[in-house]
Amino acid sequence: MCTGRIDLAFVLRALSKGAAGVLIVGCRINECNYTTQGNFYALSMVSLCKQLLLQIGLNPERIRIELISGGEANRFAEIVNDFIETLRGLGSLGASEKIDKAELESRLEAVTKLVPYIKIQEREKLQVKLQSKEEYQSLYSSDEIQQLLHEPISYYIDPNKCQACMICAKRCPVGAISGGKGLVHIIDQEKCIKCGNCFQVCPPRFSAVTKLSGQPVPPPIPEDKRAIVRTKKKAD
Ligand code: SF4
Ligand code: SF4
Repeated sequence: MCTGRIDLAFVLRALSKGAAGVLIVGCRINECNYTTQGNFYALSMVSLCKQLLLQIGLNPERIRIELISGGEANRFAEIVNDFIETLRGLGSLGASEKIDKAELESRLEAVTKLVPYIKIQEREKLQVKLQSKEEYQSLYSSDEIQQLLHEPISYYIDPNKCQACMICAKRCPVGAISGGKGLVHIIDQEKCIKCGNCFQVCPPRFSAVTKLSGQPVPPPIPEDKRAIVRTKKKAD
């Protein structure tokens, strides 16, 4: 019922399942039938999605948003016909971009994995209400946002600081942290969705979780070196 309900993940799923493009049609700005003004979210999401498509080498014209009224039947038909023509020109997903199927799948999978991270960034930095597609496009093309999208952060547990309190493993929503009693905890970077919970819950006296941006994550320490050896303090 509302374009605000269309999640970035839905669009990426449509493309992963073979759609050549996605057209979103909703109400005009400031003509929301409810009080939600969801079309602002949709405009923002489409601008973000265009940046992500560019990042993985796909033509951003493959996603489009149009805001029209329910009474504009002719305009609706024109928009649909025009979008179909655009997609015919571009061909199936990856065709005009010269990306083969396996590579395309892997790029879409990689960008889909970033969705939770992107949502956190959206919540923190991109909750702004602008008045037009152009303003959203300009926001998402800014250097700061480009850096956010191109250099997503990673989380790493410093083996020299981890005290195996196990809090982070309990709070990880995707089971990406392995550990156990007396063992240095390790983040599986393949599973991690970069939600940042571990960073927030690691007790400050340990501060074992580090946030890395634009730099490689050090390799995990080997299994046989994960036991934490605690030395007893001498009594005075
Ligand atoms: S950031 Fe930490 S808590 Fe969040 S998914 Fe990754 S390992 Fe788990
Ligand atoms: S919360 Fe911090 S100290 Fe505790 S297990 Fe996780 S990384 Fe180690």
